[in-house]
Amino acid sequence: MTPKQVERAVTVGDDLLTTHKPLLAGGTLRPHCGAGKADEETTEWRRAVNCEACLQLLKEDDHA
Ligand SMILES: [Zn+2]
Repeated sequence: MTPKQVERAVTVGDDLLTTHKPLLAGGTLRPHCGAGKADEETTEWRRAVNCEACLQLLKEDDHA
């Protein structure tokens, strides 16, 4: 079995189901799509990103 690259994602506040692409901003991880409020806590996970807006941003990154 080939080890897959571990995907990392962040959730915001109480919404633990929507996983966002992490973006390091000012020493804290924020959702790439800008979801949630600035004062909401983010949690980092080893999970696949499932936020549609973030997935769209991931696609755009591939073309860069
Ligand atoms: Zn997102």
